[in-house]
Amino acid sequence: MRVATFEHLGKQQVGVLHDGSKTIHPLEVADMIDLIARLDGCNVPLAEGMKVSLADVRLVAPIPKPRRNIICVGKNYREHAKEFSNSGYEANAVKEGEIDLYPAVFTKLPSSVVGTGAVVETHPSVTSAVDYEGELAVVIGRSGRNISRANAPSYVWGYTIINDVTARDRQRDHRQWFLGKSLDTFCPMGPWITTANELDAANLQIRTWVNGELRQDANTRDLIFGIPQLIETISAGLTLQAGDIIATGTPAGVGLSFDPPKFLKAGDVVSISSLKRRPRGVGQRASKLPLSIRRALLAAKS
Ligand code: MG
Repeated sequence: MRVATFEHLGKQQVGVLHDGSKTIHPLEVADMIDLIARLDGCNVPLAEGMKVSLADVRLVAPIPKPRRNIICVGKNYREHAKEFSNSGYEANAVKEGEIDLYPAVFTKLPSSVVGTGAVVETHPSVTSAVDYEGELAVVIGRSGRNISRANAPSYVWGYTIINDVTARDRQRDHRQWFLGKSLDTFCPMGPWITTANELDAANLQIRTWVNGELRQDANTRDLIFGIPQLIETISAGLTLQAGDIIATGTPAGVGLSFDPPKFLKAGDVVSISSLKRRPRGVGQRASKLPLSIRRALLAAKS
């Protein structure tokens, strides 16, 4: 099931996508967190309203106002960890062999969240090094603390995509990640959540384009810390809650990895997709999973 939050006729609603994502059926729930709570284990049938064409609604982030900070993982792909440590923008987090032992975890403010197609502000008075990070994000379905790796999948409600937009100079100068990651509009999310039963999150190809140029292309099987391990580590002594979001880290190919760096500028368009990886030896095209998106960002607002 794919679910989205959308605005139609001045009202914000949650709905389930049908007809190859061409239509959306509103659900009788207060918001996405309410839906997550209702579908936690009991699978309560939900009343669906009249379907609406997706062309007639405005999608917002699936969880437009997260209750808590978005939990993020840094340097969770080896090639990205390398490009980062060589870039001069290191934030003094775990280094070299440490990345195999301790995931680098930080957070972004909920106020940074925007939806698909939204404008990302470039904040020229604050930063001159705005960068993109395409990432698979996990949506937690129920509360839990000290969750074991083996039990972790039962806490995952679904998946979405975020762009962990980052002001690299803020990250470098302040020697932490929060300030450079939490600027207003720095967390585009969505356009929808695909429920966990429909997705093999351990085998998704994460790709990011900037103005049509492919910049990031890696598979989630290459995560240093897989999703169950991340949930185990993060929930140790810390209660995860329904609706919490964990961004799993970005692959190699961010703007800082180029010489000179290819930071984002006003007018650039960033697109991120998550595709099922084609099995080896099978000659057919990989089918697009519902999570696939194209997202337009960074219009001229600055
Ligand atoms: Mg990131």
